[in-house]
Amino acid sequence: MDWRTKLLNPRPRANRDYNSLATPVFRGSTVIFKDAASVNDNWNQTENGYSYGLYGTPTSLELASKIAELEEAHFSFIVPGGQAAIALVYFAYCTAGSHALVPYSAYGPNKEMAEGLMKGLNVEVEPYDPMIGAGIADLIRENTTLIWTESPGSVTMDVQDIPAIVAAAHARGVTVALDNTYAAGVLFDAFAHKVDVSIQALTKYVGGHSDILLGSVSVRDQASFEAMGPVYRQLGLAVSPDDCSLALRGLQTLGLRLAHLEAATLEVANWLVDHDAIAEVYHPALPSCPGHEIWQRDFSGSASVFSFLFKDSVSTEQATTFLDSLKIFRIGLSWGGVTSLAVIYPDLERPGKDFAGRLVRLNVGLEHPADLIEDLHQAFQAALSTKK
Ligand SMILES: *Cc1c(COP(=O)(O)O)cnc(C)c1O
Repeated sequence: MDWRTKLLNPRPRANRDYNSLATPVFRGSTVIFKDAASVNDNWNQTENGYSYGLYGTPTSLELASKIAELEEAHFSFIVPGGQAAIALVYFAYCTAGSHALVPYSAYGPNKEMAEGLMKGLNVEVEPYDPMIGAGIADLIRENTTLIWTESPGSVTMDVQDIPAIVAAAHARGVTVALDNTYAAGVLFDAFAHKVDVSIQALTKYVGGHSDILLGSVSVRDQASFEAMGPVYRQLGLAVSPDDCSLALRGLQTLGLRLAHLEAATLEVANWLVDHDAIAEVYHPALPSCPGHEIWQRDFSGSASVFSFLFKDSVSTEQATTFLDSLKIFRIGLSWGGVTSLAVIYPDLERPGKDFAGRLVRLNVGLEHPADLIEDLHQAFQAALSTKK
């Protein structure tokens, strides 16, 4: 054989029986079949064996099965990000003529998809008050196929009565999907509360270090699995095995990080409650958060992201100066990593409420909470000493 041909021989030389403690990173699109009769292109590789890298590698399916085990799901699909998870759920449950419901407090790009792609495909997605509870029954129509929930909601942190919404939805045969990113799939037990589909942006707590984008879609039963699988294949939601490897590493410290972040975040939030310039702190474990009692009833803990609202006496400019004066908190989107972050959403839209650029969303990281409080303190001083 020519040396160039030898270079391309994929047959392994080294013994592959290396039982590493860490999950290996399996890169690859093509899988070698043993003979012509074995060739297949089946997406359900967990049951039918490997066929093609697009439907998962041993690395991504290891992550999928760990997420499924953690959430006590029937099965989990790993997708390129939280937003891809949202898209997969919409496409699995909505077709032209469907009606779906989404809370006002849902993650912004979810609502954008409702008003964008979904509307263009003749799917009507109606926004609803996240605090509606059992009242959701009045919004369910003959053609309602999907109810989104997200608890606590993005930025305004509204905690939803998931059991009441699930009961109303299931009485009419409607699927309930939950964006369970805040709870990292563990602080709220989606499937014990009878949710049908639970998604996460693994980008946040599971990744935990702001260096990957990944999502998961977990299903309660075989029916949801069969609704999801073909759509997952058609959308081609392949993920990088390197990113999955980082998520698998993140899972190992999730317990430690969540425990530390809960305590540190409560320390910071409780300090803010007493501050003169602040009207309200929206943290699920504090009574000022909408749905606090529901959080007490349904959750086993709180996480690192929350918001606070400046009093009306603080101008939008002062709120901006506050943000720009922070030294340890960095200004940035996303959350769940090791670094403290702050952000203002100037165009936050909630019916009947005008936050007028005075709502600040914080993510507490792993810095010492005393330093974080000192940072907030000096930024308040800098902002409030400026003219309105
Ligand atoms: C960040 C986030 C998403 C989207 O996740 P990406 O991985 O960034 O696409 C979805 N839902 C919630 C609640 C989020 O915070």
